[in-house]
Amino acid sequence: HADAALYHAKDKGRNNYQFYSVSLSAKNPELLTLEKNLRYALERAELTVYYQPRVNITTGQITGMEALLRWQHPEMGLVAPNVFIPLAEESGLIVPIGEWVLQTACNQNKAWQDAGLPPLMMAVNLSLKQFRQPNLVETIARILEQTGLEAQFLELEITETTAIEDLNFTRTVLQELEQMGVYISIDDFGTGHSSLSRLQMLPLHNLKIDRSFIQDLTTDVKVAHIIKAIVSLGQSLGLRLTAEGVEKEEELEFLKSINCEDVQGFLFYRPLTVQKATEILYSQSTKL
Ligand code: C2E
Ligand code: MG
Ligand code: MG
Ligand code: MG
Repeated sequence: HADAALYHAKDKGRNNYQFYSVSLSAKNPELLTLEKNLRYALERAELTVYYQPRVNITTGQITGMEALLRWQHPEMGLVAPNVFIPLAEESGLIVPIGEWVLQTACNQNKAWQDAGLPPLMMAVNLSLKQFRQPNLVETIARILEQTGLEAQFLELEITETTAIEDLNFTRTVLQELEQMGVYISIDDFGTGHSSLSRLQMLPLHNLKIDRSFIQDLTTDVKVAHIIKAIVSLGQSLGLRLTAEGVEKEEELEFLKSINCEDVQGFLFYRPLTVQKATEILYSQSTKL
């Protein structure tokens, strides 16, 4: 039963894509069906992008949005990315799907600017397979040109695991993107067993502390110390720090006290439909 398969996939956890080792769909008929449906999702316009605001911790102003993919399945409803991104990765569908997300998100950011709203950063997630596409840099350049968005308003998020898999390769690609003017962010930082001393060789702009740390922040004093150390070391390397998954006032207060710059989390906003995001941007801009 499809729901059971979804539940099972979710259960395996968001940072545990490696568990889907050999072939997900070969082992699980429900996932195979899902993968087949995913093939048509793009052409049937079942995919959609939600936007989650990133907020400046001291002013509360929205400084950026993260594009988060959703699949509006005709029978199953809204399917979460943790369920279908691994399938898209495995089947290679992530490449056209990811390109569509980039195009959609850049287009949206440009549309907000054209509407006279204050310029925002648009963050887009890149999976490992996307990052390894030989024409990634040209694809990004083409999308910026087609949408008319300036490179400085696009931020690409790669996970720590993607970044460290082949540091020399990563550095080459990131240097080209950096030259283009695109911002680079390390996502889910702290979960990939790397260290900032290894990442410092990369041209990075932003470090996103993984939600799992924020979750344990108020119950485990050691975690608070770790977050404090990440923020301080990151800042001394010239990086901007974003805390992911902030849900409680207490967490926010702590993050303020250690001068973390940005926060993203349900305490402020959940991922929003484009309509809702647009409304919020307008209401924020009239308050300025
Ligand atoms: P991510 O890039 O780390 O995105 C942040 C995730 O944390 C999002 O989940 C967001 O909804 C969730 N989140 C944000 N604040 C909170 C909070 O306060 N509490 C809780 N419980 N969750 C919060 P989402 O949208 O389900 O996406 C999951 C992952 O799927 C993303 O993690 C990213 O790795 C991947 N993903 C999403 N969209 C894309 C995409 O277009 N391309 C690729 N390659 N991956 C994507
Ligand atoms: Mg992300
Ligand atoms: Mg993350
Ligand atoms: Mg993640």
